[in-house]
Amino acid sequence: MRNILLGACGALFVSAALAAEQPPPHWGYQGEHGPAHWAEVDSGFSTCALGRMQSPIDIRNALEADLPEIDFAYGAGPAEVLNNGHTVQVNLPASGGIAIDGTHYALLQFHFHTPSEEKVAGMTFPMVAHFVHKSAAGSLAVVAVLLKEGKQNPALAQVLDTMPAQGTTHALSGTFDPTPILPEKRGYYAFQGSLTTPPCSENVRWQVLKEPIEVSREQIAAFRKLYPMNARPTQPLNGRQLLESRN
Ligand SMILES: [Zn+2]
Repeated sequence: MRNILLGACGALFVSAALAAEQPPPHWGYQGEHGPAHWAEVDSGFSTCALGRMQSPIDIRNALEADLPEIDFAYGAGPAEVLNNGHTVQVNLPASGGIAIDGTHYALLQFHFHTPSEEKVAGMTFPMVAHFVHKSAAGSLAVVAVLLKEGKQNPALAQVLDTMPAQGTTHALSGTFDPTPILPEKRGYYAFQGSLTTPPCSENVRWQVLKEPIEVSREQIAAFRKLYPMNARPTQPLNGRQLLESRN
C-alpha cells in the first residue's frame, strides 16, 4: 500500500495499492484542465461542479456574531517542504494544532495560493496561506492567513527562500514553528465550505483571519516564479451563513 497526496488543500490520502503505477488525474488552473473542467477530469471530482458549499468565496456582508476564539497551540516540530505540482506545501506532522469551541484539530500542513483565493468585499490579496487541520473524528478545519505586500517575512523566509523543484521535497533543518506566521489579531470570518482543489470535498470548517500578514515583493515573486496563478475562482454562497467575529 502506498499513499498518494490528492489535493493541495486537503491532505486527503487515498490508498492506491492497485493504482500505484497510474499517475494521478491531471488538473490545473488554466485552459482545458482548469477549474471549470475539474469535474470532467475524474469521476471522483464531481463535487467540484455539483457541490453547493464550495470554496473559496467572496467574503462580503458577514454577520457579526460572538464566535469562539481560535485557540492556537502550535509548536516547533519537524517540517518538510513539498512542491506537489499545484502548490508549495509545508508538512508539519508534530506541530500542535488549534481548538475551536472545544474541538481539537491537529495541524497537518500549510500551503500557498496566489493571488489569494478568498476575496474580501471583492478584493484579492497577493497571496494566502491555508493551514489545514484535522480532528480526531476526521473533520477538516482550514485557517486562511492573507498575505499582503510589505516587509520581508522572516518566519516564512525558511520556506520561501528554499522552495524545492516540482515533484520534490526537502526537509527543513532543525525544527519549524508556524506560530510567528500568524497575525497578532485573531479575529476571523467563519463559514462552511470545501477543499479548493479536487476532489472539492465539502464539510470543511473555514476560518479566514481578518488581519493580513506582510511578505516582501521578492517573497511573492519567488513563489510566483514557480506558480504564477494557482487560485480557484470564488464560488456562490448559495445561502450559506457567513459570520464575522466582533474583534
Ligand atoms: Zn488551499
